[in-house]
Amino acid sequence: MRNCEPAGVPDAARYGSVVMKFGGSSVADADAVIRLAGLVGRQAEAQSEDDKPPVVVVSALSGVTDRLIAIAHLAEEGEVDHAVASLRELLERHVTVASGVTTGANQSKALAEVREEFESLIGLVHALAVLREVSPRSLDAVVASGELASSRIVARALAERGIPAAWIDARIVLVTDAEHTGASPDMVATCERAREHIGPAAARGQVTVLGGFIGATASGVTTTLGRGGSDYSGAIVGACLGVGEIQIWTDVDGMLTADPRIVPQPRVVPQLSFAEASELAYFGAKVLHPSTILPAVAKNIPVRILNSRRPESLGTLITAEAQSPDGQLTAIACKRNVTVVDITSTRMLMAHGFLRRLFEVFERFKTAVDVVTTSEVSVSVTVDDTRRLEAIVDNLRSFADVECEPEMAIVSAVGENLRADPTLFGRAVTSLDRIPLRLVSQAASRRNITFVLRDADVPQAMMRLHGQFFEQTPVNHEDTK
Ligand code: ADP
Ligand code: ASP
Ligand code: MG
Repeated sequence: MRNCEPAGVPDAARYGSVVMKFGGSSVADADAVIRLAGLVGRQAEAQSEDDKPPVVVVSALSGVTDRLIAIAHLAEEGEVDHAVASLRELLERHVTVASGVTTGANQSKALAEVREEFESLIGLVHALAVLREVSPRSLDAVVASGELASSRIVARALAERGIPAAWIDARIVLVTDAEHTGASPDMVATCERAREHIGPAAARGQVTVLGGFIGATASGVTTTLGRGGSDYSGAIVGACLGVGEIQIWTDVDGMLTADPRIVPQPRVVPQLSFAEASELAYFGAKVLHPSTILPAVAKNIPVRILNSRRPESLGTLITAEAQSPDGQLTAIACKRNVTVVDITSTRMLMAHGFLRRLFEVFERFKTAVDVVTTSEVSVSVTVDDTRRLEAIVDNLRSFADVECEPEMAIVSAVGENLRADPTLFGRAVTSLDRIPLRLVSQAASRRNITFVLRDADVPQAMMRLHGQFFEQTPVNHEDTK
């Protein structure tokens, strides 16, 4: 299950006033990087004399992490020429961006840095192709290049615009465990490193620039925090430095009332509580990595989601306390393609110790379960990461009957008001009339109602719920069939 305890964050003096994290679309091309530099410059100017300059955390250029993963798989299959050709294309894209945002000495330095990063990556890919093996550890080494290259370009682009900037290798700051492709930070060590490496540059008035998503073990082996992890990096660094605000700059106007790829015109949620944001991120609102909120909670630092293409829009502010003023739900989210596992005790009633044994199996195979419902003889859970499901099922079968149902989804309705207004639950269920619901659960916090249903029913369920809670005229059920 998810670890809900914020990691121990030591107290820190304020070393930087704001962390500005920019996602892949905010560094997608030269125009995007120029916009980014404008935003950082404006933030630096707006700060008071006593404030330290912003700390900038950037993702890889959009689509680059996916490409690097595909390249690693090509190497694994021994397709070395194809892999290297693909890397050269990526290098060209970085060269184009770097050339578009720098001139003179800044440009020569940026190009040399980008080329060096890609040349060493090409060497690594050759080695992997010889071995025909890509372990999670090597995969991390490959994908880290995306953030290393983008952050180099951004640091030079800032310098080009007269903004004093220092690039810092995020791998010397973010100390993590060795869970490759999904590492967790050691907050105590990371905070020490952040103060040691970012502190002096900030004191000199430099904007520090780090790649998100990447870190290293205490012995220096490159790791990553899991897909979408740059948000988490931003929050970790922000908590360590005790900044006043963590800004997540992205390609939408803030946290929306629903995933815009499913519901055509969601609204912006102006304010959210940490707990609501955490639930929404965990249940699929991709705009925030699910762990982002933990370091912010630990230090009570507001998180603001902003659109780098429309900086004038107000965005979403996430703080400890917030409540939808109209007594409504706050937003809905969905997690697609999960598997429901039904586990039935082979004894007539659930025997003493059954639940412990059952969850021990999931624990042993390091697989998180999201939704759990129980009846007298059976337990149903949903699993998102099915990589180890076969082994889990084999183990469970030693003491239970097990059935799996793939292609399911979780739809989650989130809002602090669910606690105060019991009618919201009823309205949500009624709006899903005639959509087969496999499981329904209300979190102990009563901040969230969770429905498990067929993945194919997600668009209709999301539109019905959205119509019911966020649109003037409720959606007519017949119309959406
Ligand atoms: P970035 O590269 O900036 O980190 P992401 O692609 O990770 O951006 O996250 C932004 C995307 O998240 C949006 O473009 C949107 O399609 C998707 N998204 C899903 N659910 C939500 C939601 N509830 N609110 C805002 N965006 C959402
Ligand atoms: N570049 C990484 C990814 O695509 C991390 C991030 O963008 O947050 O997953
Ligand atoms: Mg993201």
